[in-house]
Amino acid sequence: MRIRFVVPPALMVAVCAVAICVVPVGAVSAQEHLTSGGKLKPEQAVMDIRHYTIALKVNIPDKSIDGYTDVDLVLSKATPVLLFDLLDSFHIHSVKVDGHEMPYSYGQNLIRISGIFSAGKHTARVTYDGRPHVAVHPPWDDGFTWTSDSSGHPWVAITAEGTGGKLYFPCKDHPSDEPNEGVDMFINVPENLVVAGPGLLVETTHSGDRSTYHWKTRYTINNYSIVFNIGNYKVVQREYTTVDGHLVPMVFYVLAEHADKAPHHLEVFERTVHEQERYFGEYPWAKEKIGIVETPHLGMEHQTMNAYGNHFRYTKVGGEDYDGLMHHEFGHEWWGNKVTARDWADYWIHEGICTFGDGLYVLAMEGEDAYDKYFQRTGRSIQNTAPIVLGKDIDEEAAYQGDIYPKGAFFMHTLRWVMGDSLFFPTLKGFVTDPAYTYDNLVTTDDVQNYFSRRAGVDLSPLFTLYLRTTHKLEVHVRRVSPGHYAVRLVDMPMTLPLEITTSAGRRVLRVGAGEVAFESDTQPVVDPRMCYLSKVTFE
Ligand SMILES: [Zn+2]
Repeated sequence: MRIRFVVPPALMVAVCAVAICVVPVGAVSAQEHLTSGGKLKPEQAVMDIRHYTIALKVNIPDKSIDGYTDVDLVLSKATPVLLFDLLDSFHIHSVKVDGHEMPYSYGQNLIRISGIFSAGKHTARVTYDGRPHVAVHPPWDDGFTWTSDSSGHPWVAITAEGTGGKLYFPCKDHPSDEPNEGVDMFINVPENLVVAGPGLLVETTHSGDRSTYHWKTRYTINNYSIVFNIGNYKVVQREYTTVDGHLVPMVFYVLAEHADKAPHHLEVFERTVHEQERYFGEYPWAKEKIGIVETPHLGMEHQTMNAYGNHFRYTKVGGEDYDGLMHHEFGHEWWGNKVTARDWADYWIHEGICTFGDGLYVLAMEGEDAYDKYFQRTGRSIQNTAPIVLGKDIDEEAAYQGDIYPKGAFFMHTLRWVMGDSLFFPTLKGFVTDPAYTYDNLVTTDDVQNYFSRRAGVDLSPLFTLYLRTTHKLEVHVRRVSPGHYAVRLVDMPMTLPLEITTSAGRRVLRVGAGEVAFESDTQPVVDPRMCYLSKVTFE
């Protein structure tokens, strides 16, 4: 979830005071073309990544890293080559597979290891050093950020959503494969600095004037969440009780100079966690932690250690302080990290449903009228220049064009109206809590479509197709039959839908399909007055 379009302009009025909607996409990195995803390389199709171990010394004055990465993998069949992605920023010292030095080539951002590799489990170790790519304008582009806080302490961050893990460690850089058994990170830094990472802090060891932080997650994790942050951090924490009654540490790695702001920020954050759980079920990583880390960039949904860089700025929602950016990024713990699309083509599932969750916060805190206004603004912000599901094997750059935030969110708003709350909300929570669609089991748009159709007891594919695979709107034709008498029908929609119409007698809901449905009104009727659909209404 790039936050490039995270808060559509219309939504910002409601929830976000941060002026991030003016998208400086022109400030691209030299590596912009090295987007992740796309068609899976055949050499990597036989490879199932199980685990990464990343052990790096970080040389801050030199802006370089030095160490090794172990890749544990399982081959589905024998192969003469192991292929890993790694940007050409580095010097490789050695490549070993199962402890044996192996011949390799390194170029065009790939490490090609030659040998005879049998089916089954292997471990490849790549030892390397170099200067990773530096981010130009994070988080809108990727790379390392080397900066310092106001007290002069170094402050290092990584953003990698577009480029993927290959930004700084050898990996299979494709959304269809995550390390199912998690990641171990051993990050060595000057001893006056602190490292924040994913999962749990296993131990911190000291040697000379350096410290090594061992962070470990046992959960599957996407490549772009496998990052660390370095700074003069204080750890401010409290305990959070999940909706299912589990105690989870809520941890904030905050710059020491901002530590006094952390307690209030955690209060705001706690409301966010609580409201996300209300609609999406228990926090997905309750066995590890709820984490945020202060970063020099605005934000990013790094699993169990969300990047936070919004400078403690809040808006009011429901009379309470609210951070829309943090709320959105945290929503990705469910939509993106727990539920993960296997192809960038389906990333509306991450951004659209997560953005819908931002609207649900407004619903919970301010009620239906505020929610309606929120989605009216969302609807008006949709550009409709291209479908939000563009096919298959899409890469990251292509996926993030278009309307995946507002139109994906608006689509869920439409589904809520079509299904009704008593069916829609259990279905939404059902999907995000179903083992078949979470954690190791990556998903597609068809999975969402089939699940919602099954739960609704009706084939919803025409609606999914209209909103996700086309740029068409729901066409509604209204005909004045005689004074005070009208007939309404849908065009090119092979299912009936509930349609609200304001008549002289007030609002009423009609079930409308291809055939005309008659109704009466002494005044000009208003179709879909609350904007439950993206519609085009024609009066014949
Ligand atoms: Zn997002």
